[in-house]
Amino acid sequence: MLLAHHPEALAALRAPTVDDPWRVLVSGCLAAWPCGVDGSDYGLGSVLRELLALPTVRALPFCPEQHALGTPRTMPDIHGGDGVDVVLGKARVLDEHGADLTEKMLEGARAMLAFAQRERAELAILTDASAACGSQVISDGCRLVEVRQHQKGVGVATAVLLDAGLPVVSQRDFLTLGALRSRLEPSYAPDPDARDHHRHPWTLEHLPGPHPRA
Ligand code: SF4
Repeated sequence: MLLAHHPEALAALRAPTVDDPWRVLVSGCLAAWPCGVDGSDYGLGSVLRELLALPTVRALPFCPEQHALGTPRTMPDIHGGDGVDVVLGKARVLDEHGADLTEKMLEGARAMLAFAQRERAELAILTDASAACGSQVISDGCRLVEVRQHQKGVGVATAVLLDAGLPVVSQRDFLTLGALRSRLEPSYAPDPDARDHHRHPWTLEHLPGPHPRA
C-alpha cells in the first residue's frame, strides 16, 4: 500500500523530464471533468491546474463511477468497511436509497486499473472522501444523512490500484503534493508547513486512530 504516509516510496519515483513526463492517473473531477454524481466537477477542476499543466506531467483522467454507473447517478458510499473490505467481499457499497452498487463500483475500479496499466501510469492523484477514489478519509456509511460519519480508509478504486502497486496521493495531501511538484519543477519552493490529510488538525481530532491501510 503506497499512500502519502510513505514519502520514501514517492521519493523513489524516477526523474521526470519534458521528453518523458510522469504519467499521472488523475480523478476525472480533478481534471475538471463534469463527472460528479450531480454532473459537476465538485469545484475541484482548478485545484491541481498548475501541477497538471507542467510540461513534466502527462495527466491521465478517469472516473471509475462514471464509467460504470454513468452521470448523473445516485451517491455511492461504503458500509461495513473500506474499499479493501469491498474487494474482499466483507463490505458493500450502497446508495442513499439502499440500492447495492458493489458490483458496479468494482467494475469501475477494474476499468480504472486497466486504463492506468494501458497508459503505464506511475502515480495516481485521486479525490479524497470518494467511495471510489478516496485514500485517506471516506464516509462511514451513507453521507446523505443528518450527521455524516467518517472513517480512515480507501475507496474501491484506490484499493484496486494500490493492490496493483500504484502509489496513490489525495488532493488534500499538501505536503506530498508540494514535494512532488518540487520534483516536477525544481524552481518550486514547497510550503514547509504544509500537511498531508492524515496530519490535518481535523483528522487528528476526529479520527485519531491509525489508517487501516498505511
Ligand atoms: S468517482 Fe472519482 S473521478 Fe469520479 S467523480 Fe468521484 S471522485 Fe471524481
